[in-house]
Amino acid sequence: MRGMRRAANAGWALALQLLFLRTASPVKPPLFAYHAPETLAGALELLAHYGGNARVLAGGQSLVPMLNFRLLSPAALIDLRRIPDLAGVSESGPEVIIGAMTRQRAAECSPIVARALPLLREALGWVGHLPTRSRGTIGGSIAHADPSAELPAVLLALDGLVDVQGPEGGRSVRAEALFQSFFTTALSPLEILTRIRIPAMAPKAGFAIEEYARRRGDFAIVSVAAVIEREGERCTAARLVAGGVGGAPVRLTGAESVLLSRGLGPAALTAAAQSASAQVDPIGDPGASADYRRHLTGVLLERALARAAERAAGAMA
Ligand code: FAD
Repeated sequence: MRGMRRAANAGWALALQLLFLRTASPVKPPLFAYHAPETLAGALELLAHYGGNARVLAGGQSLVPMLNFRLLSPAALIDLRRIPDLAGVSESGPEVIIGAMTRQRAAECSPIVARALPLLREALGWVGHLPTRSRGTIGGSIAHADPSAELPAVLLALDGLVDVQGPEGGRSVRAEALFQSFFTTALSPLEILTRIRIPAMAPKAGFAIEEYARRRGDFAIVSVAAVIEREGERCTAARLVAGGVGGAPVRLTGAESVLLSRGLGPAALTAAAQSASAQVDPIGDPGASADYRRHLTGVLLERALARAAERAAGAMA
């Protein structure tokens, strides 16, 4: 873990710049060419033409501030908004399929998401503010891979994957392999994330997301997403994920093992929370010290587990 910490230093430099960005006044973006292709093939051709020196524009809620602060200066922006079929929520067998350009607010209001992915729906309520969710997209948040963002943590907790198109054709990337470090995914600069696929949650699953931010709507200092299944006091499945404690969302495997072996009584939840605090290895920054993030991980996990366990009990009843 300590080695990974050093490897992530470059990402932290960007992370610190972005933290500054969240409190400073904007300037003007550098000059860039603007393209609004009407097909995915056209967008991919443009990305190839610029050879990695272009960015796709989705909702602009992260990209435009980064341009305004000159943290990025791509030669071109390739706007995905005019490409049909990149937005929308549908179901295919056991999966929910969310187009990358689906606005966060549209997903939040989707009856399919409410029924099949209630954890995602709950998480979306924590993402920024109504105006940012009305423009920001699901795919943009995942591709941006902010270590404090809720949606990457939820994608990992729900065992989802993304479909990607690039010069070599299409491929799918599971959440485990997608988020690599601070603002860094397994996507190449020539690829476009086209859709997100998430297995529908079991109707009997209990779930919760808890986070702490300085003000409602701010990026979380730490967030924790929990999905569990229970039979009586026994925990039969658990996927627990923390955000804001490293470069990428962290699966809390120690806490999962505690629940699977000790069940869902109060002492087991406390032991799971202690395990989570011991497992994570965050780095301190001007927003919060490493110790504080570690402490929050346990506190938030215990809260999330209490709610998730109660919901699962309700589903059983
Ligand atoms: P853009 O800003 O357009 O793009 C972001 C990056 O992703 C760019 O590098 C872009 O090239 C790339 N990208 C976008 N779409 C694709 C794609 N389909 N394929 C490949 N690459 C792509 N987010 C949170 O998670 N939690 C918060 O609490 C939160 N609070 C916010 C508060 C404010 C005031 C603001 C302005 C933003 C906040 N955000 C928060 C960020 C918001 O969720 C953004 O919507 C999100 O980070 C990016 O989505 P976007 O569609 O706007 O992408």
